[in-house]
Amino acid sequence: MRKQMLFWFNEAFGYTDAVQVFFSPGRFNILGEHLDYNGGHVLPGAMELGTYIAAAARSDTLLNIRSRQMQDACMVDLTKPLPAEKGWWRYVAGAVVTICQQARKFQGLDLLLHSTLPIGAGLSSSASVTAGTAYATAYFLQLHPSCAELAVWSKRAENEFAGVPCGYLDPFAICCARRGYALLLNCSSLHYRYIPVHMHAYAFIIVDSGTRRTLAEAPFKQRAEECAHAKRMLRRLLPIEELADVTPHQFYSVAHWMVDEVAYRRARHVVGENARVLTAAESLNDATAHRLARLMHASHVSLRDYYEVSTPQLELLVAMTRTVPGCLATRISGAGFGGCVLSLIRRSAYAHFIDVVSEKYRKACGFDAAFYPADFSDGVRLLTAGE
Ligand code: ADP
Ligand code: MG
Repeated sequence: MRKQMLFWFNEAFGYTDAVQVFFSPGRFNILGEHLDYNGGHVLPGAMELGTYIAAAARSDTLLNIRSRQMQDACMVDLTKPLPAEKGWWRYVAGAVVTICQQARKFQGLDLLLHSTLPIGAGLSSSASVTAGTAYATAYFLQLHPSCAELAVWSKRAENEFAGVPCGYLDPFAICCARRGYALLLNCSSLHYRYIPVHMHAYAFIIVDSGTRRTLAEAPFKQRAEECAHAKRMLRRLLPIEELADVTPHQFYSVAHWMVDEVAYRRARHVVGENARVLTAAESLNDATAHRLARLMHASHVSLRDYYEVSTPQLELLVAMTRTVPGCLATRISGAGFGGCVLSLIRRSAYAHFIDVVSEKYRKACGFDAAFYPADFSDGVRLLTAGE
């Protein structure tokens, strides 16, 4: 892929001297949905699919951005404020500006992006772009941030320049992931641990429903407000900072005081999900695969009934996948309202699973589901000559 990127870069910019190619993965989350903005734990891994970025330093302060997935190109002068228009390029320019601010130097760059991830499917193509661009810019500025620093800067770029109020889950997964490990991240303290994944007989697979959450910004904002409300109520009763600090035991001892039914349901999801993540982190091996499956199933039920972010297509996929022999569990993966589900399946059933689900889904919906391996890959990196 490195060679291919150099070829495309040459087509776009007319040179290949001193061009470097970076790779920034997409991410999936085994468990811990809607916990990042509630100060809870998440358990992501990095995918093999992601965004490739070919880049070279310029001798001026201009930033030239192209993407093979987008028609329009963009050129900005880093010494001037970014234009006010919205656009995909803001993720890229925002990441470059954020890193230049850290280095106190405006470094012009030519950048070409190419993504092997579906865009807008909940696999975090956006953070893959910002983290990859931030990593590339830091490389040319000879900054050597830790992966956690890079994640914090990438999040800031997406928040401030793209205007997306995303949390720490995506940038930490993408910047800090390691092959063969899941990342257990506390979204409140930002402490993280690498959890070795010893699953040989089982595998995770992502199924993209092909439906998108384009109209669903409002419900997400609403969920965040409902959680803030639930937190305010519970803070009058319990010594907590974040909603996810509430233990299941504490929650059930005070739940009858929660007169607001919606706040109760949202809090119940957050409290239960956080406890499930901690158990799941101890279940990432063959011997405990069935326990993990029960946790994933409980997570799905909670997202459907208490957090209320499922859709008919997602329910259809969940029901369909569960009837395939060798599938242990399926749950909504990502924020919900469209996008993907994540299944835990027997590795030997992999090909059969894809055949059966794709045929059944096409028959039921009239359009195709897509399948992506959810392997535990490395985080953002510079590609070497053979890659
Ligand atoms: P996702 O779940 O994939 O992160 P988002 O809506 O958060 O969905 O982010 C998608 C946005 O990220 C796109 O609309 C675009 O602005 C940007 N993006 C992602 N991949 C690319 C790419 N290869 N080239 C240009 N922009 C991209
Ligand atoms: Mg995103």
